[in-house]
Amino acid sequence: MTIADRWREVRARVDAACVGAGRDPTSVTIVAVSKTHPIESVREAAAAGATDFGENYAQELATKRAELPDVRWHFIGRLQSNKAKLVAGHVALVHAVDSVSLAQELAKRAAGTLQPVLLSVNVAGEETKGGVATGETATLAAAIASVPGIRLDGLMTMPPPSDDPEASRPVFQALADLRDRLASELGRPLPALSMGMSSDYEVAIACGATHVRIGTAIFGSRG
Ligand SMILES: *Cc1c(COP(=O)(O)O)cnc(C)c1O
Repeated sequence: MTIADRWREVRARVDAACVGAGRDPTSVTIVAVSKTHPIESVREAAAAGATDFGENYAQELATKRAELPDVRWHFIGRLQSNKAKLVAGHVALVHAVDSVSLAQELAKRAAGTLQPVLLSVNVAGEETKGGVATGETATLAAAIASVPGIRLDGLMTMPPPSDDPEASRPVFQALADLRDRLASELGRPLPALSMGMSSDYEVAIACGATHVRIGTAIFGSRG
């Protein structure tokens, strides 16, 4: 199968999952995760209809963005503050902000533009993973939301790896419930939920995902 074939299959499955959940297919953004794949592959996916692309490494993002400036780029990885300048003001959404200091650095580097971000949550409490503990999210969400130049749009998570997509469901549901609680505490909506990857995006959509981050199912394995 070509990248275009795989894109069309993912698009169709996302649309079907939306219909199954009683949701409008336009309410879910497919972020095609192009990390480690060459720019030709990104062009192929864009020609097939992909509009949003996700990268994990700041330098790789900067290089690809320069080559293909007319698509929407997302930064989905853990970001070190010293790389914030490569990302801030250049992406539609920074998915994995996990500290106030990173939000402040992004704001400083965004040079007057409003940078939308998500707070990354380590729902399952895995030691090796980034993201903040659920218990810390209320304080952090309030602090990040109050940084001038930053717009906190919602939450992001990555469940523990599993062969069973249903294993992710409790994690996705917990993130959606947490979002509802934080939005009511903050007194403003947090519309975005970035959750679901190649193996479990349909479950994520059933739980309310607005951004699914899909690499392998579109571009093939990363070798
Ligand atoms: C690589 C990556 C993805 C995509 O994973 P696939 O299983 O290839 O779809 C999604 N989110 C993050 C944070 C990633 O690092």
